[in-house]
Amino acid sequence: MVITSRVKRATDHSDDSGPGPSADALSIGRRIRHYRTAAGLTLGQLGERIDRAPSQISVLENGKREPGLGQLRDLAAALGVTTDDLLDPSPVDARQALELEVERNQMSPLYSSLHLPAVKVKSLPQDALEAIAGLQRQLTTMVRRRAATPEEARRVNRALREQMRQQGNHFPELEKVAGEVLARIGYDGGPLSQRQTAAVADHLGYSLHYVSDLPSSTRAVADTENRRLYLSHEDVTGHDPRSHLLTALASHILGHSAPADYEEFLTQRVEANYLSAALMLPESEAVPLLQRAKKNRSISVEELRDVFGVSYETAAHRFTNLATAHLGLPVHFMKVHSSGTVHKAYSNDGLPFPTDPLGAIEGQYACKRFTSRTVHRVADRFSPYFQYTDTPGGTFWCTARVLPGGDFSVSVGVPFAHVGWFEGRETTKRSASRCPDPSCCREAPDELAKKWEHASWPSARTHASLLAAVPPGIFPGVDTTEVYTFLERHEPDEG
Ligand SMILES: [Zn+2]
Repeated sequence: MVITSRVKRATDHSDDSGPGPSADALSIGRRIRHYRTAAGLTLGQLGERIDRAPSQISVLENGKREPGLGQLRDLAAALGVTTDDLLDPSPVDARQALELEVERNQMSPLYSSLHLPAVKVKSLPQDALEAIAGLQRQLTTMVRRRAATPEEARRVNRALREQMRQQGNHFPELEKVAGEVLARIGYDGGPLSQRQTAAVADHLGYSLHYVSDLPSSTRAVADTENRRLYLSHEDVTGHDPRSHLLTALASHILGHSAPADYEEFLTQRVEANYLSAALMLPESEAVPLLQRAKKNRSISVEELRDVFGVSYETAAHRFTNLATAHLGLPVHFMKVHSSGTVHKAYSNDGLPFPTDPLGAIEGQYACKRFTSRTVHRVADRFSPYFQYTDTPGGTFWCTARVLPGGDFSVSVGVPFAHVGWFEGRETTKRSASRCPDPSCCREAPDELAKKWEHASWPSARTHASLLAAVPPGIFPGVDTTEVYTFLERHEPDEG
C-alpha cells in the first residue's frame, strides 16, 4: 500500500503499544470532526456511511488513531471533501488552532513531566482555553530560558565581561578574603604548598577524599552535611593538585548558596576561580614581584608561573587581575582552541575581539593572524612566543603559549605603548590583522573564490559544544543524578 510518509509515520504509532497519539493524527481528526459537523452528521451517521462503529469514528476524531489511506478516501467521499482537505495540517479556524495548540502541548514531554491532568479542550469555554494556551506558552518560554540556551549563556557572559572590564579585572573584596585566609593558615611567602592548601580545607572543617569514581561532569563534589570534599585521584598526580581543591573550597569560603539562575552560577564560578588564583598567587607577593619586573623592564608571565608553581594559564590570568590595578597597564587575555574558536577572553586595552551580533566573544573565531592562532603553528612549544600584531585598533604586542595537550593556546598582550616593560619586546615577529573586515582571514581571496564558489560542497564538522544547550539544572552542565548517587556511595557510616 502506498501512503504518504506523514500518514505512515503516524500510523506506525496507531497500535496501543506506541508512544501515544501523534499530533498529525490529531490534526486529521479535528478536520474530520469539522467537516462532519459542517455536514450536520452524527458520529453514528458518518460511521454508517463508511461501515464503521461510531466509537471508531470518535477514536479517529480524537487523534488517538490515524486513518489508513483507504479509510481516509472513504471518509473524504462520505463527507464530500477530498483526502487533501483532511490531510491539510492547517487549522480550519482560530478556535481549532487554539485547541490543537493546547492538545499538542499536553502531549509534550514538558507537560508530562509536570504530572498534571490533561483537560478535554473541546468542551472548554473560549477564555479558559485561551488562558491555558497562554500559560503553556509562558511555561515553555521560562523553561527554555532556565535551560540556559547558548544565546542566554552568551548574553550573561557578555554582561559579566563588561563588568570585569570596568574593574580592570580586579576584585578588591576577593583579594581581601584571600589575604585573610592566607593569614589564618600562616602563609609567609613563596608558592602555596600542598600542605598549606590542605590547611585551608582543615580550617573550613572539611576532610579531603581522593576518589577514582568522581562524577565525570564535576571537578569536585562537597558533602556539606558530613563536611567531606571529594576530588579526583588524578588530581594528586596532575600538574597542579591545588587548583581544583582551592576552587572547590572557594565557594565555601565565600558562602555561595545554590545559584538561582545561570547568571549567578557564572558569577560564582568567576569568583571561585578568582579566589583560587588569588590564594596561589597572593597579591602581597605577586604585586611586588611584578613591580620589580616592571622596573627592570622584564615582566614575564613565565616568571610568575615559575615563582608560584602554577600553570601558564593561571599565571596569565592572574596577571590580568593585577596588571591594570597595580601596574597601570591595560591588557588582554585569550584562550583559543586549535580550531580557532575563542573559549575565554578578557580585554580592557581595545584589542578588537571577534563578536557575534549580540556582542558575545566566546565561540567566535579569533583572527588567524592573532598571536593566539599563530602560536599553534610554531614548532617550538617550550620557548615563550612573542609577536607584534597590527590591527584596526592599533598595534599590540602579545606573548602566547600552547597549553599541555596541544588543544588550547593562551595569550596575553598589551598595546604597543606599554611593551617597554615586557620581556620579549625585541621580537621581530610581526603580523597584520584587518579583522573584523571579512577580507582579512574569513573570506577566500577573490581569485580562489571565483574558481571554487560554485564548485565545492564541504561537509561541516559539527561544533557539538556550540549547538548543544547547556544542560538544565541548578548547576548547569552537571549531572545531578550522577552527583547524588556518587554521594550516596561515599556517605560515611554513622558515628
Ligand atoms: Zn583576521
